Amino acid sequence: MLDSRLRRPARRRLLAGSVLLLALAQTGTYAAPDLASFSDASPTEIAIQFGAWQARFREQALAAGIRPAFFDRVFSGISPDPAVVRADRSQPEFSKPIWDYLDGVTAPARVRRGQQLLAIHSNTLTQLEQRYGVPRHILVAVWGMESNFGSNMGDNNVIRALATLAFEGRRPQFASEQLLAALQILQQGDVTPERMLGSWAGAMGQTQFIPSTYQQHAVDFDGDGRRDIWTSSADALASTANYLKSSGWQRGQQWGVEVNLPANFDYGLADMDLRKSVAEWRALGVRPIGTLYGGAADAQSASLLLPAGYRGPAFLVFDNFRSILRYNNSAAYAMGVSLLAAQFYGGGQIIARWPRDEVMLTRTERIEMQQLLLNLGLYSGETDGIIGTNTKRAIRSSQQQLNLPADGYPTKRLLERLRTLTL
Ligand code: CA
Repeated sequence: MLDSRLRRPARRRLLAGSVLLLALAQTGTYAAPDLASFSDASPTEIAIQFGAWQARFREQALAAGIRPAFFDRVFSGISPDPAVVRADRSQPEFSKPIWDYLDGVTAPARVRRGQQLLAIHSNTLTQLEQRYGVPRHILVAVWGMESNFGSNMGDNNVIRALATLAFEGRRPQFASEQLLAALQILQQGDVTPERMLGSWAGAMGQTQFIPSTYQQHAVDFDGDGRRDIWTSSADALASTANYLKSSGWQRGQQWGVEVNLPANFDYGLADMDLRKSVAEWRALGVRPIGTLYGGAADAQSASLLLPAGYRGPAFLVFDNFRSILRYNNSAAYAMGVSLLAAQFYGGGQIIARWPRDEVMLTRTERIEMQQLLLNLGLYSGETDGIIGTNTKRAIRSSQQQLNLPADGYPTKRLLERLRTLTL
């Protein structure tokens, strides 16, 4: 008797809990558990919550045209991946300076491998240049940056990785959309679930396309009827060319040119959102240096880029640089692609020196800088340690007030000045 009385309430609670989860799953108001809970939750709790999420996502997938039996087969045995959760939450304290990053990108072994592959795939690359207008060196450079020429595309099951992120990631909506696109790709038969491999974030194959990018831009170039960015280098290179072309790549144009700036230059003009013609930049005293990148037409629209602040090299960058940014929105990445491409034919040397004595701010220091700028009324965004456009503008305002070169670049010296200002 005693035994059954004790057991009954417990059983009722469990039932109530299941019914509640089911009800929430059906009404669509189920909220993902908060981030802290995942590591504390028991495997059983996680399985129940993941099951509820999966039931809800299944409805969404079926409504979008995924066949029920297909969904169930793909999701059979899928569980959240703790390694993906860890990767998604990791926020590195230290970041690499751009000069170290670029040294790595253009390491001699990678340049040599790229040159070999340029020779091996010469015929395909000639056809791709004709069809898409993107130079072969750029295509092979992106290939090298994204997957080390197809040798490192990540070994995560993309469905499992994206299901984990849709269930428990920082951007669940985005991950759900990508997961849905991944299911559509599988249902089309371009690849099998077992071979659909990629990064923990769901970037797939040799091009590291997320599923929605794949859906829009992947190409079957070798003509076997499947868009295979995993094992067909022709499909991978063509898909990259197609993506760059639809991101605005201009046939026959350069990505950019290294420049010298005159004394007393207004560094506030170094802003990717500010565009002037080459002729206007020249009138401001901006002069190309080096012989690597050729000339640019006077009417060409360009922005001034100072990747490491006013003490480092300066570049005028054109539409094709922005097209590379569409692939990966990081100036360091776009510089990496451009310089690696140039090194394949013996170019890519920057004339001006990087400020290698500059010590990068840690994440904690970047957050502190944002907080100080916020206290000064110069900044109103998140204090997340990410130096985006708004933070750069706030840094620039503070530099102007302090009579420092207003390059928008965060340094230790500026952080120290800001600390004394707000004491
Ligand atoms: Ca193919």
